[in-house]
Amino acid sequence: MPKLDRSSYKDAKALTEKFISSKNCRSIFLRFFSDSITLANELMAGNWNVNLDPHGHFIRFNVGHVYCIEVFEEYVSILFLKGSLKTHNLDNQADITFKGYRNKKKILTTRLIGTPDLLSTVPDSAACHIKHHGLTDFLPYIEEPNHDFIRYAIKNSTITSQMKRAHSTGFIEYLSSYTRISQPDTNSTTTEDEFYSRQRKVEREAKRLTDSEIRDKAISLKAIPKHIKVVSTKYYRSPFIVEYAKRKANGVCQDCKNPAPFLNKENGEPFLETHHIIPLADGGEDSVENTIALCPNCHRKRHYG
Ligand SMILES: [Zn+2]
Repeated sequence: MPKLDRSSYKDAKALTEKFISSKNCRSIFLRFFSDSITLANELMAGNWNVNLDPHGHFIRFNVGHVYCIEVFEEYVSILFLKGSLKTHNLDNQADITFKGYRNKKKILTTRLIGTPDLLSTVPDSAACHIKHHGLTDFLPYIEEPNHDFIRYAIKNSTITSQMKRAHSTGFIEYLSSYTRISQPDTNSTTTEDEFYSRQRKVEREAKRLTDSEIRDKAISLKAIPKHIKVVSTKYYRSPFIVEYAKRKANGVCQDCKNPAPFLNKENGEPFLETHHIIPLADGGEDSVENTIALCPNCHRKRHYG
């Protein structure tokens, strides 16, 4: 099996469908999964991740430093607080097993009573392994106890940077498109510079391909656009200076001296853009002296020409 790409929607979809092949089970599970992620993100954005194993052995949702939901080929594992499970309906069922540790020894049992704690860091925690065709029956019972686990674990432990790097944006994209709800993504700290430098790197790769390579590559692509959150630094520009610069230009570009190419449909005024001669990011002043009004062509030329 080729190594999976954590940023790939396609790989996330393929692995999930391979693990949970029944459409019905997958549907009920992904909705449950999506609710748990939403809750974690509301409680503490940035303190969770979804790790999609590049070797295709598991998909794991972590809250803080601890695992919370895992998907495998044979079953899903869901962590919960034992005290929050208010039913014995899950005891002695063929498709569900409880897991804890006693003196570092793994205990698997079909009855919740007597199941030892799973994690020393989360008191009263246990896991249940649910075989895929048991998901429809058992998930409704385990949802609240799982949410209680998340409430405790996310506040009492912190995700590591290594875990953050293992986050699968592809899985989040898949889940968003599956549930038709825009899922929160945890890696919200990409800066604008990082975003554009990544983009430029791919652009340079594209330049290196031959004509036939670029043709094959381009026509093979048809993706739902990825979206990621980008943190950017914006400079405040005074609307008074903008307005003054435009009035002074009187509808004429100050570089090419041609009239503005069209009227702005919002206000009927000639369309000109204001430009800072010394960029604000380079320490330029937001002042009348540093501001000119340009047509869109000349504005682009100032930046890229
Ligand atoms: Zn111009």
